[in-house]
Parts: sequence; C-alpha cells; structure tokens
Amino acid sequence: MAKHTVTLIPGDGIGPEITTAMRRVVNATGVQIEWEVVDAGADVMEKYGTPLPEHVIESVRKNKVAIKGPVTTPVGTGFRSVNVALRKALDLYTNLRPAFSIPGTGARYEGVDIVIVRENTEDLYAGVEFEEGKPETLELIDFVEAHGAGTIRRDSGISLKPISITGSERIVRWAFEYALANNRKKVCAVHKANILKYSDGLYLDVARKVAREYEGRVEFEDRIVDMTCMGLVLYPEQFDVLVLPNLYGDIVSDLAAGLIGGLGIAPGANIGTDAAVFEPVHGSAPKYAGKDVANPTAEILTAVLMLQHLGEREAADKILAGVRRVLAEGKTVTYDIKRTNTGSTDGSVGTQAYADAIIATF
Ligand code: NAD
Repeated sequence: MAKHTVTLIPGDGIGPEITTAMRRVVNATGVQIEWEVVDAGADVMEKYGTPLPEHVIESVRKNKVAIKGPVTTPVGTGFRSVNVALRKALDLYTNLRPAFSIPGTGARYEGVDIVIVRENTEDLYAGVEFEEGKPETLELIDFVEAHGAGTIRRDSGISLKPISITGSERIVRWAFEYALANNRKKVCAVHKANILKYSDGLYLDVARKVAREYEGRVEFEDRIVDMTCMGLVLYPEQFDVLVLPNLYGDIVSDLAAGLIGGLGIAPGANIGTDAAVFEPVHGSAPKYAGKDVANPTAEILTAVLMLQHLGEREAADKILAGVRRVLAEGKTVTYDIKRTNTGSTDGSVGTQAYADAIIATF
C-alpha cells in the first residue's frame, strides 16, 4: 500500500502537462504516493454546475495534502477563482512562496534565498466590494462622512481592506515557527503602517507582540512595503523570511519570482491547520497549452515543498539536486530558460524531455 495518498488536481491550460511531468519525476524517486486525481475548473462546470465540486474539497479534506496545476479563471463568466475558493473552503491561511536562486536559470541575481509568507484570507482579497453608483455604496459613503471618517467622491467604487488581530497573529506566528523549523535567522514584517494606521498599523502591532515571544531565537524587523521592493531589487541576498498581508504578499512574491528567473521557476503552497494545497505561483498560460513547451520546474519544485511537508526529505533532496544539475548543464532546458540564457529558444526541449533529463540524474 502507498505510504501517502495525495489529491492531484491537474488543472487546465498547461496544468495537465506540467503535472504529468511532476508526477513522473516524483514517482521516479521511488517515494510511495497514491495519486487521487480529481478535476476542477471550467471543464467540469457543465457536469457539476460548479467549477469546484464538493467531492474535490472532500478529497483534499480526507487526504490533507493536495497538489495542483493552475486553473484558469475565465473573465466575465461570473465564476469565482477556483484557487481562491479552495483556499477559503479549507481555510488555507498561509501562502508559502520560497524564492531561491538556482544557477542556470539566467536570473539577474545569484545567492537569493528568500521565503515569502503571505496571509491568504483577508486584506483587499476578502472580496468585500461596493460597486460604483449602487444604493448601498452611496449609503456607505454617507456613513463614512456622517462618522467624520473622511470624504469619498460619490462616483467611487469601494473595496474594503479588513485586517484582523486573529488573522495577523496566526500568520506572523506561522512565519516564526517556519523560521525556527528551517534554521532561518530573521523574520521581517512588511506593511504600510505609516499611512494605513488601523489595518497595517494593527498588523504591525500584532507582529511586534508575537515577535517578543521569539526573542533570542529568531530576529525580527519591520519594513515599509515600498522600501522593501527597492531593497529586494538592490540587495535581495540580504532578505530572509518576509511575512506580509495578502496584497503586498501577492505583489512582492511575483517580484521575488522575477529575481530568481521568472514564473516558470517559482513554487508555492497554501497551508492551513488541517490541509495543505501545493501549487506553483504561475497561472495556466493558455497560449502554451497542449504544445509540450511549458516549463514544469515550478510545478516540480512545488512537489519538492510537498515532499518536505510529507517528511520525505530524501525524495525532495533527490529532485532538487536533479533540477539543479539539469539547469546548471543548460542543455536540456525549456524554451524560457534557453531564451533568458542565450537570447534565443533554439535548442530548447519540451516539457516531458526536461522531466526525463531530471529523472536521468537519479
Ligand atoms: P500566467 O502565469 O498563466 O502566464 C503569464 C506568462 O508567464 C505566460 O504567458 C508565459 O509567458 C509565462 N509562464 C507562466 N508559467 C510558465 C511556465 N510554466 N513555463 C513557461 N512560461 C510560463 O498568468 P496569466 O496569463 O495572468 O493567467 C492565465 C490564467 O491563469 C488566468 O485565468 C489566471 O486567473 C490563472 N491563474 C491561475 C493561478 C492558479 O491556478 N493558482 C495562478 C495565477 C493565475
């Protein structure tokens, strides 16, 4: 019997190809995983009436660990992002996005080793929005003015930015526990507390309180988000663990992905108390779907995070070493890596051939 049962959501666009490559690489390590494959997204809409059927959520709840490919969010169909819905349904409050340099990717920097811990459930992503011109929006504008909280133009649309003590405390604590478990030296809380006193200000207060519990074990600092972005571009090697509210976390993690060679490299995980869903930072890149050209590195490194989470260190290390070797050699790489290294895609290989090259290193 397999040692672990993992829910696999292949996704759409390039999802099926990169998850196939990932699964072949993971299986080749010899680790005992039974893959429970379930589908989500626009393709299952007709059959189940929802892009995220209940049996998909149930499968993740039961197995506690899932890995997915990207799922397209069609514009203008009225259906919410499957990715956001899954995070909400399972209360996956941590979005872990490590960004570490691998020689051979053609990235502009070397020696980057940053871990981004992004809050996944609140902030401007809470989805509490008021449409311009609607009676309730005008009512809210009147309410704000009546309470002397400021004036808002009457032709405004409004998105709320709730940040709670509960949400802030658990994400900052998660970042510190991660730092301890992974021999990290410093946690930096990123915010804009100088302007957003009651949301980011609260987040910073909570972060400082939690940090006191870890004094002497993990260092703590805080930085304003704009300065953080400049610092990341100037001297990324100075950053360690960053903990951020949802929106800054989203933006800064794409910036960090850029530092290490782009979206094709950047892995990720959504982690809650009872379940974890592993997925790369990138989306479904529809224009490359079905062409066997997409780079599966981000999905494969996402599997490395999953194997670490499952306690399968040996298999994780084997894959990481294989990826490092194939990228360092630079011969059997996908179009994007070839292009950043040589300015041309000539001589690049497909998604599955790249996976084969990694497997050949085992
Ligand atoms: P995207 O990440 O899919 O693609 C942007 C560009 O990045 C691509 O055109 C391609 O040039 C490059 N790229 C991304 N991944 C690559 C890979 N593995 N190999 C090579 N090149 C790669 O972003 P997008 O175009 O904004 O989004 C497309 C769809 O994906 C949207 O519907 C979006 O909602 C969805 N999306 C899903 C997830 C998820 O499932 N977690 C995350 C982000 C976006």
